[in-house]
Amino acid sequence: MAKQEDLFKKVISHAKEYGYVFQSSEIYDGLSAVYDYAQNGVALKKNIRNYWWKAMVQLHENIVGIDTAIFMHPTTWKASGHVDAFSDPLIDNKDSKKRYRADVLIEDYCAKIEKKIEKEVAKAAKRFGDTFNKEEFISTNGRVLGYQEKINNILSRMGKSLEKEDLADVKAQIEELGIACPVSGSKNWTDVKQFNLMFGTKLGADAASAMDLYLRPETAQGIFVNFANVQKTGRMKIPFGIAQTGKAFRNEIVARQFIFRMREFEQMEMQFFVKPGTQTEWYEKWKENRLKWHLSLGLGKDNYRFHDHEKLAHYADAASDIEFKFPFGFKELEGIHSRTDFDLKAHEEHSGKKLRFFDPETKTNYVPYVVETSVGLDRLFLAIFSNSLVTETLEDGSTRVVLKLPSILAPTKVAVFPLLKKDGLPEIAHDIINNLKFDFTTIYDEKDAVGRRYRRQDANGTPFCITVDHQTKEDNTVTIRYRDTMLQERIAINDIATIVNKDISFKKWIG
Ligand code: ATP
Repeated sequence: MAKQEDLFKKVISHAKEYGYVFQSSEIYDGLSAVYDYAQNGVALKKNIRNYWWKAMVQLHENIVGIDTAIFMHPTTWKASGHVDAFSDPLIDNKDSKKRYRADVLIEDYCAKIEKKIEKEVAKAAKRFGDTFNKEEFISTNGRVLGYQEKINNILSRMGKSLEKEDLADVKAQIEELGIACPVSGSKNWTDVKQFNLMFGTKLGADAASAMDLYLRPETAQGIFVNFANVQKTGRMKIPFGIAQTGKAFRNEIVARQFIFRMREFEQMEMQFFVKPGTQTEWYEKWKENRLKWHLSLGLGKDNYRFHDHEKLAHYADAASDIEFKFPFGFKELEGIHSRTDFDLKAHEEHSGKKLRFFDPETKTNYVPYVVETSVGLDRLFLAIFSNSLVTETLEDGSTRVVLKLPSILAPTKVAVFPLLKKDGLPEIAHDIINNLKFDFTTIYDEKDAVGRRYRRQDANGTPFCITVDHQTKEDNTVTIRYRDTMLQERIAINDIATIVNKDISFKKWIG
């Protein structure tokens, strides 16, 4: 645990030191669970967003994108169920006065049991060596099965209680499991209460007549209310999707874990409209498609898993999370939800406008069903950033810190150095940059010895370094140095763009 915490601390301090993420309003001691993206962070975030957008919109003939306003008519949130049901179950510890999400306390308890399973697996892997079959072990070992059953029972009971709004049973469960407050260590809990997560604000100058608005807690509703507009103007035929990226706001109570859980964050969502009855097939397809997309980034297959929901939201008939192994354990990265016709029907009822699709084959109207894929851009950023940050021990015993970001996402693609600050070498380096900068993000660096400059770019995540030396003046060649292998080779200046292009090709990455 201590090791994981250390790693997470390193991630946070590296993100600050190298200009990726800053605490918001830091000079005023910050604002809790609100963060700013710095010069490198904004580029990484933009590249991740672009990678998602291209995969969803550009590669699918039947998916289009939109960008809707953060402010929406307040009836939207009544129709969507957010006014009545978008809340978290909260519990206070009477001694520490700290407030927790009751479901998170129970989930954390289960995560501890899961740690025990991981320990058993690690022990067995050591014992059996090469012949160890993890899947078989997990499905047959008595102790592991016992732990798993315990987890399943706990989560299933919690899911049912939350579904029935039986908050007394959620509290009873916390007490029965003997869950103590992590701060005070006491088990002196209040009752569990629901707390709405939407931020309210006002529209209009006159306080008396101002309209109550909410900052949108999800981007999805902007898509639903525009369903008919997009369908008609785009002449879209079912099945089709509408994608959108944008800010969402939630008054999170348990707001910790850096950019994992923020009060202002960005979502990348796609609502896929399908014929009623085909939703399960599309739900399975999108689960598979989205996992494949994540795997294309090369962060390692073992870092992902599905978690099918026991407790379904008020709008869903099936839901699954793609979980990622963050430095603090497996947690939700993306949600895939089969949202039925709940949203469109609700907006029909509240607006009095038809939100239907006319099927030219059967000559009938119907309200489409929806399969949603919803991923948090900031969580994805954290997943990629934390997974890429490694400390390597080199052959000579020294260590290097390297941010092995997927090259297609790296904020700076090429760093160019003159070996010396004289003899016309800086001018050549600038010429190279002036030529590359139309296609790639570049950086010029002439400070310190070249070795130090390489290390700086390693820590920054830059995949290619180019060094200009005296030989360059004679034969127009430079040294290219690759971040991950540290390999260096002599290439012609004219080949730089081809090498970089090949490595960061979207087609290559998405596969
Ligand atoms: P959680 O259970 O972690 O609160 P959620 O199930 O409420 O998340 P969804 O409503 O399904 O989340 O939102 C879709 C995605 O948006 C999530 O998978 C996550 O990546 C992202 N997300 C949700 N809330 C936050 C937040 N407070 N900060 C950052 N990202 C978030």
